[in-house]
Amino acid sequence: FDMFILAFLERLFRPSFRKDDFVLGKKLGEGAFGVVYKASLSNPKASSKLGDLVLKKATEYGAVEIWMNERVRRACANSCADFVYGFLERKSKGKGAEEYCLIWRFEGEDTLYDLMQSKEFPYNVETKILGDIQDLPKGLGRENRIIQTVMRQLLFALDGLHSTGIVHRDIKPQNLIFSEAARTFKIIDLGAATDLRVGINYIPKEFLLDPRYTAPEQYIMSTQTPSAPSVPVATALSPVLWQLNRPDRFDIYSLGLIFLQMAFPALRTDSSLIQFNRQLKRVNYDLQAWRRTVEPRAAPDLRKGFEILDLDDGIGWELLSSMIRYKARRRVSAKAALAHPYFNREGLGLSVMQN
Ligand code: ADP
Ligand code: MG
Repeated sequence: FDMFILAFLERLFRPSFRKDDFVLGKKLGEGAFGVVYKASLSNPKASSKLGDLVLKKATEYGAVEIWMNERVRRACANSCADFVYGFLERKSKGKGAEEYCLIWRFEGEDTLYDLMQSKEFPYNVETKILGDIQDLPKGLGRENRIIQTVMRQLLFALDGLHSTGIVHRDIKPQNLIFSEAARTFKIIDLGAATDLRVGINYIPKEFLLDPRYTAPEQYIMSTQTPSAPSVPVATALSPVLWQLNRPDRFDIYSLGLIFLQMAFPALRTDSSLIQFNRQLKRVNYDLQAWRRTVEPRAAPDLRKGFEILDLDDGIGWELLSSMIRYKARRRVSAKAALAHPYFNREGLGLSVMQN
């Protein structure tokens, strides 16, 4: 009960805004369901307090995204970009559909996608996490340590969401923003997320998902699961469904593909990832079999991935193999992955501070 009072007080004292309070800057993204801008408050005093912001104008799915962001802010704030406020903008005259506005703090310029596009990756991430560092010799071991640190950050954020009961369903490099203030990656874009404890957004909307990063199971819950819980009454039931179907493992598969792309320079482009997906499907999602088919004639920037993952007796390859599996229930959970021996070795200095 106290939680409701706290939530109520928090809402009462949190500043509220209207669309006119914001000045829009450059466009950061545009999808089928919304447009995202850099923005700031027009009132200079308030603006200097809040800093740069991000404003998303969203169509009908904006309601779910606001709900998810409110929930995340209370349950696992560190996992996602700092959410400031969300509201329904009154329809302008005419028949324009209703429009939602969502406001976050501007976390930084770079998504993991942007950073992976650079030839400097993963060293450009190391600089971001540690600040200016002296030039140590570059090599596989150092790259492995950086990738390991990023993976730990991503699993930590994902574990926060999953422990809250939220499955993101659109984990991809474009939806992982590097927070300059926290010096860590955070998850963004909760528009396709689903909260299984409460049943929000449970009906799968597969058209919201990105086929390049989706797990082979299209629906995160078995289609044989009794009717979808659509009202909060389902709270008592869903932990059971969670255990049965392991819906969180959908995100784990996507994160496995990101791990793969970080380790293999040759798989960072869209077209090479699509080709990888095709090859993996052809060998029935058996990663070891895929390795046997490509490794003998692998070019250097493909071979490099195997070399990185083979360090320390192949502990990285082992973790990757436990994430990219056909059957969801055979994939490792985010929490179990964090306890995997791959992470026993020291990562980058600051990474230990995030817990
Ligand atoms: P969509 O993918 O639906 O267009 P996103 O929420 O993913 O919307 O945002 C689009 C882009 O805007 C992101 O890929 C990222 O580059 C940028 N962005 C979103 N949220 C933030 C944030 N809090 N801080 C900085 N950049 C952001
Ligand atoms: Mg996005």
